[in-house]
Amino acid sequence: MESTKVKNEVHIFKNLFKKHYKETQLILPQDLALREVALQPIDGNYYVRHLAFETEKQLIEYITHVHIPKHLYYSSAKYKDPGNQIMNEKMWLGSDLVFDIDANEILQCKDKVIEITFCKKCGYTATGESSERLCPLCGSEVAKFEHVEPQCLKLAFEYLKNLVDIIESDFGFSTYKASFSGNRGFHLIVELPNPHDTIDVESRRELVSYIALSDAYKKIIKNVYVANKNRKGSAYPLPRICDGGIRRRIAKALLKRVADAKLKEFLLNCLDKIESGKLKELLDILVNNIDDILNEVAVPIDSKVTIDVTHLVRIPNSLNGKTGWKAFLIKDLTNFELQYHEVSLEGVTELFKIKILVDLPTITVIDRVFKIRRGDIIELEYAYASYFVFKGVAELLTIVR
Ligand SMILES: [Zn+2]
Repeated sequence: MESTKVKNEVHIFKNLFKKHYKETQLILPQDLALREVALQPIDGNYYVRHLAFETEKQLIEYITHVHIPKHLYYSSAKYKDPGNQIMNEKMWLGSDLVFDIDANEILQCKDKVIEITFCKKCGYTATGESSERLCPLCGSEVAKFEHVEPQCLKLAFEYLKNLVDIIESDFGFSTYKASFSGNRGFHLIVELPNPHDTIDVESRRELVSYIALSDAYKKIIKNVYVANKNRKGSAYPLPRICDGGIRRRIAKALLKRVADAKLKEFLLNCLDKIESGKLKELLDILVNNIDDILNEVAVPIDSKVTIDVTHLVRIPNSLNGKTGWKAFLIKDLTNFELQYHEVSLEGVTELFKIKILVDLPTITVIDRVFKIRRGDIIELEYAYASYFVFKGVAELLTIVR
């Protein structure tokens, strides 16, 4: 009985995903033929790697007929022979610069991440981080549920904007694609022109510490401003937006905390002449807010992702098997509001009847607040239903036409 249900569930999603891949416009690199393509099939827990396609058409043919993906990626690396099974024989030509920003890694969101360990069999639940693998009540294997509130995605988006600002203003790269990951964060793919695309792991590590502000950077900044605070008249020149680099980033964060018109002008227009009393006022604002400012300036990127020159990038506009949502390309980088129609499947208007397997605290999914209990049977639009099913806390019973 149980396995028939699961088979039915997989079958339904398989058809929906297949339809999506037939109709959607995947966002692929111009040089697709140089990329390794990898996927995890919707009906299996394994990876199919070292795929290579000459054209987008061949790729679509594969993912709609051979393996319908639960997760779909291409390599940030370009290779002479991307389909070669042996990494060393692929012949690396260079890599994009890629970034992940996850909302659950943001300091201000640490207490807004919901983590639950639960047992589907008996209903046991425990909140918070846990390493237990077996249910203490019945001995069955436990599962985990992780949820991030949409307000944290908005915060993560502010960091994405900061990151794009650094990429454009400090590094001078203008070809990039930003996307929502389809789960709890954002991706940025910067297509580096030759010869920048061949920068090695060590150089990428340097970029990471510049963007994320390593502790060493933070210490230097604090020493420069905070330690100088009481030395009369010898304060290190205060940061202004025209300075460039980290000083520019600090000046931008400082600007948000300054009300005085003269000081704003100093930061924005790089005034050279300003009374020392005013400078002291600005220094006080900087010193009093130094931790907040550094936290704002430091972009919480996943360093492993950016350093790795063979990283597999989730394809924008593909579906994320952790939620069933579309990992959509972001076209407007000014503001982000998670919207139902952007993550859902186009043209799917049916309701999905699901059965909830665990008691959950009150959570917001996209734009709707849910308070659900184990045993509840509810009918929901696709993206709400798929969220609970792919997160493992519900099973799909049927589609209500
Ligand atoms: Zn149990």
